[in-house]
Amino acid sequence: MLYTSTRDKSIRVSAAQAITQGISEEGGLFVPCEIPKFSEAQIRAMIDMDYISRAKTVLSAYLTDFSAEELDYCVNGAYGGNKFSSEKIAPVVRVNGNENVLELWHGPTCAFKDMALQLLPYLMMTSAKKVAGGKTIVILVATSGDTGKAALEGFKDVEHTRILVFYPDEGVSPMQKLQMTTQEGENVAVCAIKGNFDDAQSAVKSIFTDANVKAQLAEKNMMFSSANSINWGRLVPQIVYYFSAYCDLVQQGSIAFGDKINVVVPTGNFGNILAAYYAVQMGLPVGKLVCASNTNNVLTDFLTSGEYNKNRAFYATTSPSMDILISSNLERLLYHLSGEDDGLVRDLMARLSEDGCYRISSELRANIQKYFAAGFCGEEDVFATIRTHFEKYHYLCDTHTAVALKVYADYVKSTGDDIVSVIDSTASPYKFSASVLSALQDSTKDMSEFEMVDELHRVSGMDVPQPIEALQNKAVRFREVCSKDEMGEIVFKLLKI
Ligand SMILES: *Cc1c(COP(=O)(O)O)cnc(C)c1O
Repeated sequence: MLYTSTRDKSIRVSAAQAITQGISEEGGLFVPCEIPKFSEAQIRAMIDMDYISRAKTVLSAYLTDFSAEELDYCVNGAYGGNKFSSEKIAPVVRVNGNENVLELWHGPTCAFKDMALQLLPYLMMTSAKKVAGGKTIVILVATSGDTGKAALEGFKDVEHTRILVFYPDEGVSPMQKLQMTTQEGENVAVCAIKGNFDDAQSAVKSIFTDANVKAQLAEKNMMFSSANSINWGRLVPQIVYYFSAYCDLVQQGSIAFGDKINVVVPTGNFGNILAAYYAVQMGLPVGKLVCASNTNNVLTDFLTSGEYNKNRAFYATTSPSMDILISSNLERLLYHLSGEDDGLVRDLMARLSEDGCYRISSELRANIQKYFAAGFCGEEDVFATIRTHFEKYHYLCDTHTAVALKVYADYVKSTGDDIVSVIDSTASPYKFSASVLSALQDSTKDMSEFEMVDELHRVSGMDVPQPIEALQNKAVRFREVCSKDEMGEIVFKLLKI
């Protein structure tokens, strides 16, 4: 299995190269030259497997340059032991009727990013041994909140790696900020930037491709890579849990093998829902992939009208991990669904960076709409959804999950398509205690972050995740704040290169 670039399909690299490099030289994203297909028998065989074996089955179809021993080592390291608080790793919980929630937040940082970022360091080190000749890998991350912590936790004290995380100073929740600024580990650093997530992401992208910076690193036997969802090594672990959820639904008797399900994903950078698209291409029986956005509804508009336009107001919402106006992984979908038209992708992405907008043909739009539906959820509805789900079904969800649940309800109402569905739950409610608590009761004022955690526990009876409990006693290690123009220098300063 080889990989090519969305902006130059003459490129051929191995999985190991794609993962160590992160992004292609000319700025395109790595995609598989051909998406592997599973037979019915291969999918059926996964029903009786645990999560680890399901992961090995899916990953081995993509990482063909990894030996079976290497894959065992990577997957057992990521999901074995007691790193996840649920034995099932990603359990499916039936909430009501055909509505099932796929809980992706039982990892060490209580958000779905752990699903991929516990595995990525293993994939990266195994890949680097094959193709990077012992270079130290420098990971730069731009985060809207959850990726940063999950990447820090995944890479901390991993040999031959350094990691530096940039987050928007005013754009993350207090809990997210505390999780990052208290991060332990000798090879880690964290810096706030004055700007929003898109500023951070654009600046990181330009540092990556800066020839001068690259040369300075090369002198020290170092190279950049990326832990953002533009890295193929981030996407491929996410394909696994769609197969896993399907198998669990069969096992639980919610569906018969072969039945189609709908999948609803609270979306930001389009990585999670794109992983579901790959699962569909591999043979997973899915009706519609429903893309759920918050008030930053650039994707809802795009998926309905065919026009992508980021020239609009940016809102800081209560679901900050979805406050994104440039969804990087959409580029991969455009490549696949345009019949692998790398010239078109190059043009569209040039328009996006020059004009901030582009329009696709009605043919391509129709092609996308075969697979995808879309909707968005405003702030009032986020609170109302948290409250009604708790009151009616005693199911407590976070703000991102609430966006997906509301968009799903709207989707069922407008289409009548109410087959068994999986709604991704992407964060523990305790990660966003202030918002979740204020949805449940009127007054939360004057409470500290941890008083709110306690209060939420008192009101809901739901266990507080151990990693959040443990945060209370940790010291803040990182207080740096910089402008986006200073990010290049900060890399060298903070990583002591
Ligand atoms: C990252 C994140 C999302 C968005 O996922 P994408 O893959 O970027 O679309 C949604 N919810 C939470 C809690 C997240 O951390």
